[in-house]
Amino acid sequence: MDIILTGTGSPIPDPNRAGPSTLVKAGDTHILVDAGRGVVMRMAGAGSMPMFLSGVLITHLHSDHVCALNDVITTHWVLTQGNVPLRIYGPVGIAEFVERQLHALEPDIGYRIAHHEPLTAGPNVEVTELEPGEGFEINDISITTAATEHSPVKPTIGFRLEHDGATVALVGDTIPCAGVDELAAGVDAYVQTVIRRDIVEMIPNEMLQDILDYHSGVIEAAQTAARVGAKRLVLTHLVPAPQPEQYPEWIARAAEHFDGEIVIGDDLTTVSV
Ligand SMILES: [Zn+2]
Ligand SMILES: [Zn+2]
Repeated sequence: MDIILTGTGSPIPDPNRAGPSTLVKAGDTHILVDAGRGVVMRMAGAGSMPMFLSGVLITHLHSDHVCALNDVITTHWVLTQGNVPLRIYGPVGIAEFVERQLHALEPDIGYRIAHHEPLTAGPNVEVTELEPGEGFEINDISITTAATEHSPVKPTIGFRLEHDGATVALVGDTIPCAGVDELAAGVDAYVQTVIRRDIVEMIPNEMLQDILDYHSGVIEAAQTAARVGAKRLVLTHLVPAPQPEQYPEWIARAAEHFDGEIVIGDDLTTVSV
């Protein structure tokens, strides 16, 4: 499997980092996890397109993780002419979210159907709401889910993907919790959205201070990786976004707690497992 960081950013706009999303490729099966700002553009950079997606997995409904879902839906629809369903999986609430997106897109859907003969209906989207603990398969990838902890955001879920003996956990925004430990146990790659707690604590901004209580810091992510025996820790959703010359410092903080490989990088950084 190739794990491609299609967006390493956060709600804070950054010219070089798209919003949170990760693309997993296993052979011809492409699965997108979350759909942050600019995801379709980054997918193109990763050699993918919405029409190649076998599934979109959503961890939670925070806007930074879903704000470009409408672009995924529309681009998939236009490029497939509605002949293939786009399958979206997420926590309870995702069905209504997608329904509302489709309402917002109604003028566009009407214009395109009026103008393009091959388009006879709106986007072909199949949404599945998942309870934590539910498992399912997409082609030859088995996926398990567990509840994560990002209160007051509820429900939130993380995913573990397994293909050909390789495993990856993509858990979204969460503090360390039993669900993350379960999903990341012994994985080849544990992808965790992180903040630098030490830096955020020094920024005198009330809303930034609020993010401290519902995200994993770099150190906590490293401690989780060590506790569960993950082989690699992949850091994404970097707050505050580091400059490349600061990557060694981020890695060093994590390496104090975790002996395995630690990956941090720009958008389109790829980890193969
Ligand atoms: Zn969030
Ligand atoms: Zn987030």
